[in-house]
Amino acid sequence: MKTYRIAVVRGDGIGPEVIASALEVLAGARRLVAGFGVELIEAPAGAETYREQGEALPASTLSACRAADAILLGACGLPDVRYPDGTEIIPQVTLRIELDLYAGIRPARRLEGVPGALAGDPAIDLVIVRESTEGIFASLGGGIVLGDQLATDTQVITRRGTERVVHSAFRLARRRSRARPRVTCVDKANILRSFAFFRQVFDEVAALYPDVKADHLYVDAAAMELVRRPEHFDVLVTENLLGDILSDLAAGLIGGLGVAPSADLGDRHAVFQPCHGTAPDLAGTGVANPLAAILSVVMLLDHLADTHGDPAPAAAARQIEQAVTTALASGEARTADLGGNATTSDATAAILRKFGSSHPA
Ligand code: ATP
Repeated sequence: MKTYRIAVVRGDGIGPEVIASALEVLAGARRLVAGFGVELIEAPAGAETYREQGEALPASTLSACRAADAILLGACGLPDVRYPDGTEIIPQVTLRIELDLYAGIRPARRLEGVPGALAGDPAIDLVIVRESTEGIFASLGGGIVLGDQLATDTQVITRRGTERVVHSAFRLARRRSRARPRVTCVDKANILRSFAFFRQVFDEVAALYPDVKADHLYVDAAAMELVRRPEHFDVLVTENLLGDILSDLAAGLIGGLGVAPSADLGDRHAVFQPCHGTAPDLAGTGVANPLAAILSVVMLLDHLADTHGDPAPAAAARQIEQAVTTALASGEARTADLGGNATTSDATAAILRKFGSSHPA
């Protein structure tokens, strides 16, 4: 029996609250599914860690993350805790760079019982794959400001960076095994050379996956189509900033940040975290929605199953999905952001109660 090491970065604000809930749900699923073990390794990072230890991402945390099979992260950073130069404390970004996590996986799937933003509640089930190491973000801290008259940032698109993220988008499309798998390249290739290059590399990689349909959309059209016909998308792959924006748009379509999980994948490491931040306005009130963190655990288990060829974690993931679906459909897991009045612990308890049940109560 394989035991997986999971580094747990609880972080700040609502991070520790939603992670505690997600770990309770993980423990509940493991009681139902034998055949794999989990060792949790506490790996502190964030604004509180900086306040206590003088470091936002201690070396011991980084090495625990490197040694882990997967990393579960809450959210890091607090508005009133900053470095002496005034910049934000964002160890999650340092982690992304240190572990070379180049593919940001942002699924948007409509869940029954969660009010979506669109009339008619279309059956949304798409994934945005965001390149996470380059694009316009490569300019981070490196832009030029001339006097108070001019400022520039430079977009960086490399062949290697584009090839690897496009490959992961196509592999993901294959794994989702839809009847007609499709990857859509989103760019602004009609205006910028860097995006035309991104599209050219996309086309070269797409030719290696003849079983997956490949198409393109300019980002403005993609934004409109995501609102008009989101059910027509499967996997989208795009540059860093465009992916940042479109994935929040997609989260908005399916009920908001409280239900949006994510993964940041590299070739050797993987971080799973809710799309939301630390939500300091909610910290300590006990009403944060834990679903984004719980669904991030589902992604983590599926990742372990994929990378280790082990069906047991995937079976646990299906148990969690089933329990979440049932608890949402019954209304018991609906927190304030979803129009309900469940607290974080009410929602967690409701999901735990639904383990093993096959029909909405
Ligand atoms: P960051 O810059 O750290 O990503 P942000 O400023 O985008 O953070 P978030 O912390 O992501 O802000 O959240 C924005 C708002 O959305 C919060 O203030 C909160 O009201 C709401 N929100 C975020 N996460 C949740 C959640 N899990 N449950 C309920 N509401 C949430």
